[in-house]
Amino acid sequence: MSSASYLAQAGYDVVVLEMHDGPGGRGRQWSSEGFTFDLGPSFYWMPDVFETFFGHFGKKTSDYYELRRLDPSYTIYFEDGPMPIPASMHEIEALFERLEPGSAARLRTFLADAEYKYRVGIDDLVRKPSRSVFEFADLRILTGLLRMDLLRSIRSSIAKVVTHPKLRQLLEFPVLFLGATPSNTPALYSLMNYSDFAQGTWYPMGGMYSVVKGFHRLAVEQGVRFEFNREVTGFRYEGRKVTGVYTGEVCWDADVVVASADYAHVEQKLLKPEFRRYSESYWTKRKMAPSAFMYYLGLDTKLPNLEHHTLFFDSDFDTHADAIYTHPRWPEKPLFYLSIASATDLTAAPEGKEALVILIPMATGLEDDDATRERYLNMVAERMQAQIGVDIRDHIILKRTFAYRDFVKDYHAHRGNAYGLANTLDQTAILKPSLKSKLDNLYFAGQLTVPGPGVPPCIISGEVVAREITKEHPTTA
Ligand SMILES: Cc1cc2nc3c(=O)[nH]c(=O)nc-3n(C[C@H](O)[C@H](O)[C@H](O)COP(=O)(O)OP(=O)(O)OC[C@H]3O[C@@H](n4cnc5c(N)ncnc54)[C@H](O)[C@@H]3O)c2cc1C
Repeated sequence: MSSASYLAQAGYDVVVLEMHDGPGGRGRQWSSEGFTFDLGPSFYWMPDVFETFFGHFGKKTSDYYELRRLDPSYTIYFEDGPMPIPASMHEIEALFERLEPGSAARLRTFLADAEYKYRVGIDDLVRKPSRSVFEFADLRILTGLLRMDLLRSIRSSIAKVVTHPKLRQLLEFPVLFLGATPSNTPALYSLMNYSDFAQGTWYPMGGMYSVVKGFHRLAVEQGVRFEFNREVTGFRYEGRKVTGVYTGEVCWDADVVVASADYAHVEQKLLKPEFRRYSESYWTKRKMAPSAFMYYLGLDTKLPNLEHHTLFFDSDFDTHADAIYTHPRWPEKPLFYLSIASATDLTAAPEGKEALVILIPMATGLEDDDATRERYLNMVAERMQAQIGVDIRDHIILKRTFAYRDFVKDYHAHRGNAYGLANTLDQTAILKPSLKSKLDNLYFAGQLTVPGPGVPPCIISGEVVAREITKEHPTTA
């Protein structure tokens, strides 16, 4: 929707072909029996990226949805109980000082550096199409790159700030959930810590789907036409160009195509072999960010002592990371995350009830069955009970699960991935799948190309690809 809006604004006649019956993709929403669940994203981070997007169209996010800042931003449960992470920087520093005297000053320096990475990263690096190393050859970027800490791991960088295990896990969690082990992730990604602490965690009232609705409305206002229930099945070619997109028997004429479905699916399943830039083994060798076990539960009671976002870190962080990334297997005692939108938003559940989403990060490619889903739900329920004293299994009145096979079926997700490629150095910028295919007029957008996974990077991906198209295929309209 991002690239569609930019292209429509630039004068192109844009049609979006989407196989589902509405917009949103991984960010769709599901409602049943008075409960409403965001199926995918729940953390609204990097608010400036959303603001910048709407700003390009002379609008503000508040023209489309209402944002609330959460306080605490989220809570982490360790074995000995909860640790709320406050919204205010002052209180965050106090928390660091309490656990590790002297660490607040080091945190301040770490975050100043992280802010620099965020600014150079978001303003310069991620807005590059990453088609050639020469794009990175200007002075601000070159000098910036030295400070970007691409070669050091975020784990070693965090180890210089804090030694307390709780504080280390707090600083490491954003990269663990979104991409790779902290020891394998460049310290560049401390920019996520900046976003976490300095920019905060926000909630769009009505759920993350309000953002989807906002993007959809803006796209329609720009003149984009949406065709839902249209699954793309292949392309029509003329020489080295795509001239049309097939949805079954129907062929949609096209001068330029942006493929924003899973890149591997488009390349390996829809494109003719001679037009593929990458081989099957290239895709097999990619390191993927995790897949996820998801549970959407309607409960007949409110849950005590739980905030909107809760992370259960009452088990060993590294053992779970090893099960996701290093030796892929079913995790023995996984970390998990809970989202309770009804803690903030009365529209998410009927009065006195709770809409609970459970997410367990898993290695990609683990083919699950119903019994495995049930086993992990029991595990989570027991650990929740130990901490909050309520057995959620006694209160479930609505249940839906979503895991590996659903990611494959619903999104054509390569190896059932939830968040695309892992954020490792060898899969960054020009080392990511290119936004341009071997064909003259077929481009890619979304989480498997530059800049990467997460809603804000995907928004930027749409902007970058639209810019490339306006340069290389100017509209004649
Ligand atoms: C469980 C989960 C939690 C997440 N949490 C967060 C979070 O808290 N914060 C955050 O910022 N990010 C989060 N993310 C990541 C974020 O949601 C994704 O990075 C982003 O939404 C990906 O967008 P995309 O456009 O690349 O892919 P998608 O959203 O998958 O969009 C691709 C679209 O292509 C369609 N499609 C696929 N194949 C075809 C075809 N052949 N024909 C027609 N249409 C097709 C799909 O239906 C889909 O609508 C989360 C993701 C998941 C799964």
